[in-house]
Amino acid sequence: MITSREQALALDRDDELAHLRDRFDLPEGVLYLDGNSLGALPKATAARLEDVVKREWRQGLTGSWNEAGWVHLPARIGDKIGALVGAYPGELVVADSTSVNVYKALSAALTLVLPERPERRRILSERHNFPTDLYIAESLARQHGCQLVLAETPDQIPLLLAQGGVAVMMLTHVNYRTGRMHDMATLNAQARQAGVLTLWDLAHSAGAVPIDLNRDGADFAVGCGYKYLNGGPGAPAFVWAHSSHAYRCTQPLSGWFGHARPFTFTPSYEPASGSKRFLCGTPAVLAMAALECGVDTVSAAGGMAVLRRKSLALTGLFIELVDTLCQDHRLALVTPRDEALRGSQVCLARQDGAYSIMQALIAHGVVGDFRAPDILRFGFTPLYTRYVDVWDAVQALAGVLDSGEWRQARFERQGAVT
Ligand SMILES: *Cc1c(COP(=O)(O)O)cnc(C)c1O
Repeated sequence: MITSREQALALDRDDELAHLRDRFDLPEGVLYLDGNSLGALPKATAARLEDVVKREWRQGLTGSWNEAGWVHLPARIGDKIGALVGAYPGELVVADSTSVNVYKALSAALTLVLPERPERRRILSERHNFPTDLYIAESLARQHGCQLVLAETPDQIPLLLAQGGVAVMMLTHVNYRTGRMHDMATLNAQARQAGVLTLWDLAHSAGAVPIDLNRDGADFAVGCGYKYLNGGPGAPAFVWAHSSHAYRCTQPLSGWFGHARPFTFTPSYEPASGSKRFLCGTPAVLAMAALECGVDTVSAAGGMAVLRRKSLALTGLFIELVDTLCQDHRLALVTPRDEALRGSQVCLARQDGAYSIMQALIAHGVVGDFRAPDILRFGFTPLYTRYVDVWDAVQALAGVLDSGEWRQARFERQGAVT
């Protein structure tokens, strides 16, 4: 472990990925550890958006659907994201939001299973999954006469699979509140053995940890564009189906962009070949342009393996420094120490004051976030987070705790978004 700021600076000097920070337009005086909630702004984005607006839109008008390739954006950006998550070209498309894609992909999986195996009436997930995934699953369970079964802890999942009756297992690969990562290959193998289809939410994984959907035997996946992919607030999300499903599954939002020939304007629906059937309506071109700039910052790293090495070094250093510098403050490490189980974030729980402690830290320019009821969450995007940032962040956290300044009333106020 390092014991001085100079040593942290030396690690940054030796960091082969240090140059990637130059691709971001980071505000002065802010140490940003919240890229898992909203990725930072890439330098390329503003100019690209201006070009899309002023040249492609103002000049090109409708011609830009063909000439500027707008119509191909969902597949083009999908291929770039596919390369980061182990999807083959043409298998992954960008569309809609993560919530909507969970709806489409979970429906598609259920409609593959239920007609043939009507005795399988369970959707398996986790109680601590991100709520929107559970809300969508609840709705689909009602619609299909299924039951949503929730594992209380990760080790219950294999037991619930083995109990039988499960049609689809829907899990988030890296948990948003704990940073714990599932072993995707093992769970997929267990699901397959039980005849269960899998749907993975990669919201906290894509651009953060190596994923290989095809190698690891996944059936469906969705993910988020505005977290580690740096696509901007509310960026479009993505959806993937294994090629053994993509040509025969159906999804309920059968809009014209998912039609085999949208511009023949026929009155009845015929799904496009493969994953394109997951498209619904007209792509949000401006948002897609911003997303592409974000995805390009990740692709520039030259592979997820190098990013993973740095991510683990950053999260590992943060954990060690918190252990040493904040030991008197009743912080409980929620994120696994085992690297194999750790995503790219570190979460600390504290029974009282977690919200105020984070607000006080933000007042010092160190931006993480709070997740109810008791979690301090720190995301480490290896593209732009430096070792010295980890050092400075833990010094600031220890300072806020040692001084007790977080107890001031001004740090209690809550906005609509936390
Ligand atoms: C962030 C996140 C989402 C976000 O869904 P939206 O539809 O973009 O609001 C969904 N699922 C998980 C697991 C997330 O972490």
